[in-house]
Amino acid sequence: MRHHDDESSSDIEREVAAQRAEISETLGEIKERLSPGELLDRMLRDSRTRDAVSRIGSAIGRNPLPVVLIGVGALWLALASNRAERPPAYHRPRRRPASRAAMPVERERLMTVSRDNLTAWLRDAYAMENQAIEILEKQVSRLEHYPDLRAKVRSHLEESHCQAERVERCLHQLGTDTSGLKTALGKMIGTAQQLSGLFASDEVLKSGIADYAFEHYEIASYKMLIAAAAEAGEHEVGRILEENLREEEAMAAWLAQHLPEVTRQYLHREAAGQTAKV
Ligand code: MG
Ligand code: FE
Repeated sequence: MRHHDDESSSDIEREVAAQRAEISETLGEIKERLSPGELLDRMLRDSRTRDAVSRIGSAIGRNPLPVVLIGVGALWLALASNRAERPPAYHRPRRRPASRAAMPVERERLMTVSRDNLTAWLRDAYAMENQAIEILEKQVSRLEHYPDLRAKVRSHLEESHCQAERVERCLHQLGTDTSGLKTALGKMIGTAQQLSGLFASDEVLKSGIADYAFEHYEIASYKMLIAAAAEAGEHEVGRILEENLREEEAMAAWLAQHLPEVTRQYLHREAAGQTAKV
């Protein structure tokens, strides 16, 4: 009996050891399969992937501006993910209006979270407007043959200065300011975007595409900010941001309506042997 017990317990031990070995082997395999380096190697060994990579490469050569715009988004994402100034969520003590005192915890927490995010996103919007200013300033100086477009770009440049000020006002409203904000990045991207357009003979049209895309980037940003302001109970901030949204929508609509005419002007100029540049 005793012998039998020993035997069965050593059987169990053996089985457990075998299972453990099997599990650790499986884990090892999974780890190997999921290694990014291995994945990348396998992808690059695959001829379809190689084709796709080379197609992307030549697409960048043909369309530098959209790629720059996508890069803007990606950079922003990277910046936002290691944003140093982001306030610690949830537990920051702050002045609290009496009307919030009786609020259930969940609602109050939602407002705090919304307010913290609203602050962070407003700082992104401030950088975005500074980038817009940088891009539009360069365009105004280069559009002498397209007076209507140039006048519109100039007036939107002035609007953009007001928009940046409004975003600053929103940040003040939330008890913070724009000090220490990274606007250098916006300037850098503005320069890169302009440079990529300089090498295109149809720069005016490439700029038109980029501007139209950028306006929609701004429209999306303000819609998001307005929703966050409502959720945070910051109605004055929401009202100010509505003004910016209306101006971006008006600019996008103007571009949509006038880009065909700008294209016709461009083609006529080229057919008449006038400089193809802006
Ligand atoms: Mg703007
Ligand atoms: Fe704009």
